Amino acid sequence: MKQLLILSGKGGTGKTTVAAAFIRLASARAYADCDVDAPNLHLIVNHPPILERMDFYGLSKARIDPDRCTLCGKCIRHCRFEAIADTPVYAVNPFVCEGCGVCAAVCPANAITLLPAVAGDLMQYSGGGSVFSTARLRMGSGTSGKLVTEVKRQLTTAAGDAELAIVDGSPGIGCPVIASLSGADMVLVVAEPSLSGFSDMVRILRTSAVFNVKTAVCINKHDVNAAIADEIEAFCTKNGISFAGRIPFDTQAATAINSGMTIADIDCPSGRAVKEVFRLVEGLLHIDHRGEEIDHHDAH
Ligand code: SF4
Ligand code: SF4
Repeated sequence: MKQLLILSGKGGTGKTTVAAAFIRLASARAYADCDVDAPNLHLIVNHPPILERMDFYGLSKARIDPDRCTLCGKCIRHCRFEAIADTPVYAVNPFVCEGCGVCAAVCPANAITLLPAVAGDLMQYSGGGSVFSTARLRMGSGTSGKLVTEVKRQLTTAAGDAELAIVDGSPGIGCPVIASLSGADMVLVVAEPSLSGFSDMVRILRTSAVFNVKTAVCINKHDVNAAIADEIEAFCTKNGISFAGRIPFDTQAATAINSGMTIADIDCPSGRAVKEVFRLVEGLLHIDHRGEEIDHHDAH
């Protein structure tokens, strides 16, 4: 199974809009949303109906047994995250606790236990030979990279004989993006034509290069700033990065998405452009639109 990962380097570039259109155009049977802080792919794609939900356990959290606590204060002095308060009783703030276990190690009364804590919801939709893997991190949980790894593990386990998996990655360049890069055969970066968008694109390209993953770039809303769009394309050409095309700003895109459709579902300028981008990317991935692998030379 080939994995296409769609990234953006920052939020708000239209990454999920492109990912949803690609899922539609590829008739993908395996796809995932790795934006575990704010998943929204499920709102656009027509995912399979059967939902399985599981608790995701992140870092363990310390808990103080007030019946054993002798109020010595040692735990507060040793907690470098300042996660323990002594009023009205000694207690751990679970949103601050990093689960390091130092407090439990120093407590002379054995009053502190580290307990697994639910950090998110892992969800798998399946049916009709398709699988959609997604998750939501709970507020205050800092284990998004680990949860992304679980989303991808769930996807690859359930994908069966699907030839192509399309993964909507997390925005930014942090831990969840690095987790989503693992196992990817190709990254499509959706860039925004602005100064910050350009610099975010360069950062995500550098991150992808560390993982030695084949990369292409497309520009969304290219006509919002044609000069920077030209600079982005020139940068790609100069650096040997495949340029997969431009998608125009299109008010009909919002109409489609607000109606629960992808831009590939309606006849509109952005929909026509994304089809061209998709065609180029599937050539780079060496697959045809049915998700079957084709001869390398046929792609050119
Ligand atoms: S170290 Fe243990 S006994 Fe001392 S205050 Fe903390 S929980 Fe209570
Ligand atoms: S486990 Fe670590 S972070 Fe959490 S309360 Fe204990 S010392 Fe602080």
